[in-house]
Amino acid sequence: MSGTDTGFGASSVEVRGLVRRFGPATVLDGVDVTIPASSFFCLLGPSGCGKTTLLRIIAGLDRPDAGTLSVGGTDHTTTPAHRRPTNLVFQSGALFPHMSVAGNIAFGLRTQGKRLAKAEVRRRVGEMLELVAMEGYADRAPATLSGGQRQRVAIARSLVRKPDVLLLDEPLSALDLSLQLRMRRELRAWQQETGTTFLCVTHNQAEAMELADRIAVMNHGGIEQIGTGRELYERPASRFVASFIGENNVFDGPDFTEVDGISLRDVSGGGLRAVAIRPESVRLVAPDDADARGTAVVRTASFTGKAQRVGVTTSTGRELLAEVPALPEYGAGDKVGVAFGYEDLQRIGAANAAVAA
Ligand code: ATP
Repeated sequence: MSGTDTGFGASSVEVRGLVRRFGPATVLDGVDVTIPASSFFCLLGPSGCGKTTLLRIIAGLDRPDAGTLSVGGTDHTTTPAHRRPTNLVFQSGALFPHMSVAGNIAFGLRTQGKRLAKAEVRRRVGEMLELVAMEGYADRAPATLSGGQRQRVAIARSLVRKPDVLLLDEPLSALDLSLQLRMRRELRAWQQETGTTFLCVTHNQAEAMELADRIAVMNHGGIEQIGTGRELYERPASRFVASFIGENNVFDGPDFTEVDGISLRDVSGGGLRAVAIRPESVRLVAPDDADARGTAVVRTASFTGKAQRVGVTTSTGRELLAEVPALPEYGAGDKVGVAFGYEDLQRIGAANAAVAA
């Protein structure tokens, strides 16, 4: 199924130079982002970075102080929320407690302005219940549903309107972890089945990596980098992205000859702001091994089933994390050498600027 043959909508979203101030605070500082039609796109960033504010402006619940917003090539910067081809699913779902599941979903149709024939309402509600695998629950009251079921109904209530863009604000954060993991796959499947553009705000990088075709990483009201999860992980364009996406050992200059007791002498300096090495790229060897770039003492070692996560302290007191094979087993106090290939170093700075959109 695709967006066109199911009647579901799909539009791109273009945000240009968006600024939002609250009193003296600039919460969005000239944001530019293009969300491709029919994609699953995540806005990812720490608490307070401005992602919900950006989503609310796209939904029409807030107005920017400057900048423009268009959906499907049409300017909607000042269009009232209910006239936009977007629909927002709130974090809590917020179903009407006195209405049945079917009534809640049908309500999504009522607010669209045009009256549909009863049979058509029934058909579209049924289609939604099937999409979110809740066929047997049409007559149930929201209070009798689990948290995950309520969130499925909330998403169905928004999707029934066939918006061009479905906006989701931390849609899984109220659910327990195992349910979150299952619903990530469901959300992804609903996006693919409907072909609708999904724009999801989250602070959870693992969630964004699993859900999204593309991710915009936000920090302090700006976008640090836009890319696929793999691009962000393998080629972070900024120090913030390097440490926010996955675990990383980041070394800050000013020169990169030897930092934190680790020799980095082969790294060329031009425009570099930091270099980083992922835990899985670190090898632990004997302290006098020719490959050792520095020595360290093991502080913590834990077994994860496939590997060991080993925290070491370098000769200058810096903590590093290594993810190494399950054997040989390490224990606190072991003296080790830290080794890695220079080709595995992530060079963060001017050379990577092209990765930033
Ligand atoms: P979280 O994940 O915690 O929701 P966020 O990245 O979504 O964070 P926003 O909700 O967009 O962040 O808020 C960004 C900043 O703007 C915060 O410092 C917040 O306090 C501030 N802010 C948001 N809305 C308002 C408002 N209506 N009035 C004043 N300040 C606001």
